[in-house]
Amino acid sequence: MIRSTDHELHDSLSVSESTDDSQYTERFTDYLPVRMINEFVYCPRLFYLMHVEGQFADSYETIDGGIVHRRVDSGNGHLPAVNDPARGEDLCFAVEELDDPPADALMDQLPQPKRKRRKHIQPPTLFGDPKDESEDNISSPVDDSSPNLSRPPSKEHGAETAIDREKEDETPAIIHARSVTLSSDALGVIGKLDLVEATGDVATPVDYKRGRPKKMSDGSLDAWPPEKVQIALQAALLRDNGYRVNEGVLYFNTTRQRVVVGLDSELEKQTVKAIQNARQLFESRQIPAPLNDSPKCAKCSLLKICLPDETRSLMPVIHEHDANAQPTPSDVDIRPMITARDERRPLYLNQQGLMIGKKDDLLIVKEDRKVIQQVRLREINQLSLFGNIQLSTQAVQHLLQMNIPVAYFTRRGWFYGTTQPLGVKNILVRREQFRKADDLITCLRLARELVRGKIRNSRTLLMRNHVEPPRTVLAELKRLSERVLKADSLASLLGLEGTAARIYFSQFTGMLKVKCDIETDPGSALSERRAAFDFRGRNRRPPRDPVNALLSLAYSLLTKDCTIAATIVGLDPYLGFYHQVKPGKPALALDLMEPFRPLIAESVVLTAINNRMVTPEHFIVAGKSVVLSDAGRKGFLMAYEQRMDALVTHPLFGYRVSYRRLLEIQTRLLGRWLTGEIGEYPVFITR
Ligand code: SF4
Repeated sequence: MIRSTDHELHDSLSVSESTDDSQYTERFTDYLPVRMINEFVYCPRLFYLMHVEGQFADSYETIDGGIVHRRVDSGNGHLPAVNDPARGEDLCFAVEELDDPPADALMDQLPQPKRKRRKHIQPPTLFGDPKDESEDNISSPVDDSSPNLSRPPSKEHGAETAIDREKEDETPAIIHARSVTLSSDALGVIGKLDLVEATGDVATPVDYKRGRPKKMSDGSLDAWPPEKVQIALQAALLRDNGYRVNEGVLYFNTTRQRVVVGLDSELEKQTVKAIQNARQLFESRQIPAPLNDSPKCAKCSLLKICLPDETRSLMPVIHEHDANAQPTPSDVDIRPMITARDERRPLYLNQQGLMIGKKDDLLIVKEDRKVIQQVRLREINQLSLFGNIQLSTQAVQHLLQMNIPVAYFTRRGWFYGTTQPLGVKNILVRREQFRKADDLITCLRLARELVRGKIRNSRTLLMRNHVEPPRTVLAELKRLSERVLKADSLASLLGLEGTAARIYFSQFTGMLKVKCDIETDPGSALSERRAAFDFRGRNRRPPRDPVNALLSLAYSLLTKDCTIAATIVGLDPYLGFYHQVKPGKPALALDLMEPFRPLIAESVVLTAINNRMVTPEHFIVAGKSVVLSDAGRKGFLMAYEQRMDALVTHPLFGYRVSYRRLLEIQTRLLGRWLTGEIGEYPVFITR
C-alpha cells in the first residue's frame, strides 16, 4: 500500500507534481491508476489507446483540465494517518490567497472554441476568496453546510463566547490535504486525490472537474458515471487507509457547482466490475471496437487517433450464421468530426549561418547576433533546418517537450534525419509491423495496392494538367494499374512501376506552361541557352536540370512528412513493405508516399513553375548539376506548404481535410491494418 506520508517509498516512486499517475504502473504493474478506470467507464477503447498503447493527444478540454488541476496539484500530498499523534500540529490548511490566474500560455496552444470563456476562478471558501453571494447556484467544492464535513460554524467578530471556545477546543481539526497519492492492495488501484478534507477519522474526497455536471430532468445535478466510479475508488482508497468515508464531492470548475456523490452498494458493485473488466482488457491486448455513433466521440481528445467511424466503416463484418461468407464492409455513416487541418504550421529555416535559441515560449532566430525573427513555439508543429544552422540545446529540449519534431536537410535539400520526442509508446503496432514485414505475401499484397494507387494518381494528374494528354498514354497507364495487381513478386512489381513512371514522365513537360531559357554552363565557352524547364526524364544525385532539382526537393520534403507521420503513429519509418531495408533509407516513409508522389510532390513542382514561384533565376548551374538558390528554395517551400494545407475530399469518408492531415489519417489506417483491426489498407486514390 502506498501512502503519500510514506516518504521513502514516495521518493522511490519519483512522485512528481504531474497529474499523470500512470507513471506508477511502470514499477507497480499490478496497480491500475484510478484515472484509467474513469477512462475505461467512459470508453474502453479510450482506456486501451491511452493505457495499453500509450497514445495521448491534447485537446482544449485536456489543457483546460490541466489548468484546473494545476492549483490542486501544488499541494504537498501530505495526509496524516488517522491515528497519527502529530496530526493536530501538522495541518496543511489550504486556505491561501490566490491571484487570478493569468491568461494561461498552455491554453493558447490550441484554437479556442467559439464560446464565451468564463474566467477561471478558484472555489471561494477553499482559497479564502470572498464568496459571491449573488450566484446562488455556485458553491465551493467543500460546502460549509455539508453535515459530514463537520466544518465549525463561523462567528462574527466579538460574538465568540467562552463556551464556544471550549467547544471549539474539542472540535476535531479539519485537515485539507491536496494531491494525495494512495493505493489499495485489496483493489489493486492507485490514485492521486485532488483534495481530501478530513475531520477526525471521517474523510471526504473532493475531485475537481472541468466542464459541467449532468442536469437531471427535475433540474437537480448529478455526476456522470465515470466520475461516480472515480469518486467511489477514491473513497475506497481512503477507507483502505483507515478513514471512514460517507460521500465524495465533485467540483465543476466551469460552472462552479458541486455535486455530492453518495456511496451506495450499487456504485460499489459497478466500481469493482469496472476494475475487473479494465484489468482483463489491459491483459488481453485486444483493442475494443470503437463506440457506435456515440456523442462521446466528438468530445474525445483521442478522436483523430481513434478514427472511430472511419475504423468501423473498414472493419470486416463477420456473418454470424454463415461461417463461409466473406466479410463485407459495414455500413457506417462517417461523421465529419475531425478538424480539417492543424492550426499550427511548419517552420522552415533556410538561411545559412543562423543561430536559433529559445526564450520563454519563443524561438529566437539570430543572424550575426542580431535577432531577425521570433516565432511562438505554440504556433508551429515541426521545424525544418537546411544546411548550416545552429540550434541550441535548450531550444531542442523545449521543442521536444512540446512534441515538435526537428527535421534536418543538407543545404541542397537532401533529407537526412529528424529529432523526435519519445512520443508514442505503442510497441504493439511496431511488433505487428515487424511481423508482417517478414511475410512476403503480405508485403506483396500491400505493395501492389500502393503502386496501383501511385499509377492511378499519376494518370489523374496528367488528365487534370496536361494540355492534351495522349489517349494512348492514359490507356497504357490504366492497363498497368490493373496489371500490377497481378504482379507475382516485388521484382516484377518494380518493373511495372518503372514502366509506368517512364510513360508518365514522358508527358510531364506537357503539364508545364512556362517557356523560358536557362544558361547551361555560365562563364564557359561551351555554355548554351536551353529551355529552362525542358524535362526529358528523371535524373538525380545530382539533379541535372531545374525540373529534376525541384522534383528531388519535393520528394525530400514528402519523405520528411511521411517519416514524421510514421513516427507519430508509433511505426518504424525504416521498415517498409514495398521498399526493402537498406541502411539509412526510411523505407516505410517511401511506401507511404507512393500514392502521394503525384498528388503532392509533382503537383507542387507544377504549381511552383506554372505560377512563377520559382523562375530560371532561382537556379544555380554548376557543371552538370543544378541547384536552387536560397531564394528559390524559399519560394518552393511556400508552394509545398500551400499544397500540404490545401483541402482534399477523402474518397471513402467524404469529408475534406488538408493533405498534411490526410497523411496522418492514412498512416493511422496503416497501423489499424497492421494490428488486424481493418481488413485492407485503403490506399488513397483521388477521383
Ligand atoms: S473517439 Fe469515441 S470510440 Fe474512440 S476512444 Fe474516443 S470515445 Fe472511444
